[in-house]
Amino acid sequence: MAQVQTVLGPIDAVDLGLTLIHEHVMVDFVGADQTGPHRWDQDEVVRTMQPHLNAIAAQGVTCLVECTPNYLGRDPVLLQRLGRATGLHIVTNTGLYKEPYLPAWAFELEPAALAERWIAEWEQGIDETGVRPGFIKIAVNPGPLLPIQQTVVRAAAITHLATGLSVMCHTGHAAAAHESLDLIEAEGMDPRRYLVAHADQVGAEDDADPSTAWAAHDALLRRGVWLEYDGIGWGPFEWQESLVLEMLERGLEGQLLLSQDAGWYHVGEPGGGTVQPMTRLLDEFVPRLRAAGVTEAILNKLLIDNPRTVLAVN
Ligand SMILES: [Zn+2]
Repeated sequence: MAQVQTVLGPIDAVDLGLTLIHEHVMVDFVGADQTGPHRWDQDEVVRTMQPHLNAIAAQGVTCLVECTPNYLGRDPVLLQRLGRATGLHIVTNTGLYKEPYLPAWAFELEPAALAERWIAEWEQGIDETGVRPGFIKIAVNPGPLLPIQQTVVRAAAITHLATGLSVMCHTGHAAAAHESLDLIEAEGMDPRRYLVAHADQVGAEDDADPSTAWAAHDALLRRGVWLEYDGIGWGPFEWQESLVLEMLERGLEGQLLLSQDAGWYHVGEPGGGTVQPMTRLLDEFVPRLRAAGVTEAILNKLLIDNPRTVLAVN
């Protein structure tokens, strides 16, 4: 039976439920050479973030996918504590981000050697915590891809082939997404296990006819990938709403994911700085979709079935 790897162990994928596929509990932007557990007080982070997680649990959310990678504030034990305290299924990741959040050793490794480290996290757990990742999180520069980012993308594909874990890539630029897809396909990975994070940024900067943006989204979807519209709440809702409605119109609901890229405790700022609530998707955006005629069946697909398909590993 397909399972999802949470920070507290595997669960049957059928039990996953309503999922926020891209949020953050904590982020540390100080850089790879300085970050580490000495930088934050776990008790204070729990005190700050638990109310936000309780708030989404009260909305009916049952799973939170925490997208902070290693060297950017990933703390599996913190996530275990919050999972126990809130009852949420929390999922963490293996992988690496991009410059200047890459450790020096990453530049010395070939893709297969980098993948070996990530596969070891899947097999043995992260560091000494025993916590296993539930997906692979990477990032690329806007493109053309730097050599190190090509290595990271190829390593992600190799890790996927060894583990079955999906790959989520921070992109937001169509050209970089296509270049990444060329690389994973060359490694033999099926794009249907690849998520383009921040896809709602593709075409968002253009004042031009929205049909230009829609064509760019459509072209990515035709390659088989998942598109994450994960910036919901960062600007007016109209933009993501138009994207969702247009892609639904084209029958592409089987490849869409919704989330907010919200949270997070900012390491280094007093009290964790300003934390963005994770409740707006369900409180404000979903009602807009309903009012626009989106059915409960489609909403369940976007918020329950699709995340489950992404996270399930046989
Ligand atoms: Zn994010």
